[in-house]
Amino acid sequence: MTRRRWIADTWSPASGHPTHAALIGEQAQHLARVLRAQPGQHFDVVANGFLHRAEITEVCGGDSGGDAEVHFALLEELEADAALPIHLLLAVFKFDHFEWAIEKATELGVARITPILARRTEKHLAHAAPKRAERWRRIALESAKQSRRTDVPEIADPAKLDAALNVESASLRILLSEVEQSVSLVDALSHMREQERNARVPHSSRALMRDEWVETGSQVRNLALAIGPEGGWAADEMTLFTQHHWTHVTLGPRILRAETAAIAALSIAGSVL
Ligand code: SAH
Repeated sequence: MTRRRWIADTWSPASGHPTHAALIGEQAQHLARVLRAQPGQHFDVVANGFLHRAEITEVCGGDSGGDAEVHFALLEELEADAALPIHLLLAVFKFDHFEWAIEKATELGVARITPILARRTEKHLAHAAPKRAERWRRIALESAKQSRRTDVPEIADPAKLDAALNVESASLRILLSEVEQSVSLVDALSHMREQERNARVPHSSRALMRDEWVETGSQVRNLALAIGPEGGWAADEMTLFTQHHWTHVTLGPRILRAETAAIAALSIAGSVL
């Protein structure tokens, strides 16, 4: 049976490998009041990125109106999957669809999402986006717990495209473009993989392991994927991507909704990575 998973709000020692952890705020209220947690019960708890089986040692404030806290002793460490090294630059579109995309991208293992205020992001959405970021972070947290992740993807503050491209550090940069006709996402990823292989492995021994591709020495090779808004990318935005050395790729001949494109691209990239 899989135990329910919680992502700790605090832990000690504060750095390194924790031995104790606690939930406070909303998660603690839920565990204490709704699930009526008791000392001695076991759950899976993620603290400082480490996943442990954990035993409740103390439940405070569960019955009264005060703030609840649930304390755990961390028992044995459990094996956990790391996030995919993927940064999704997702143009802001209708909020209900955007929230769905955040939830699904989290399930699929994305490491980071930056909401992009694109030229064709509707004005009222662009205006309201900065105030939505906290809600998006809560959605990512819930989805991370539900999908048994050990980390929560970072949801950056919404940014304009030029600012986001200026600071993008991923070595592999891919623009999903509904007007690109020839290069597919799989082609682009395979090509980049081939280049990495040629650059680092002598001709005589070109067998390449997945981890070798993802990590070059101690440096992790990150991938950035950009998805446009409902109206698509504007021509000058496409040019900006090209200037920043982004590869334009297609997901096929049909026009996908932005959220479908995000999910499809992450699934494909995840399987190639
Ligand atoms: N309004 C546009 C479609 C925009 S779709 C039109 O009707 O022509 C929104 C975003 O999803 C696009 O900017 C692109 O990033 C992505 N997308 C949709 N279909 C795609 C496809 N077939 N290949 C690659 N990306 C696609």
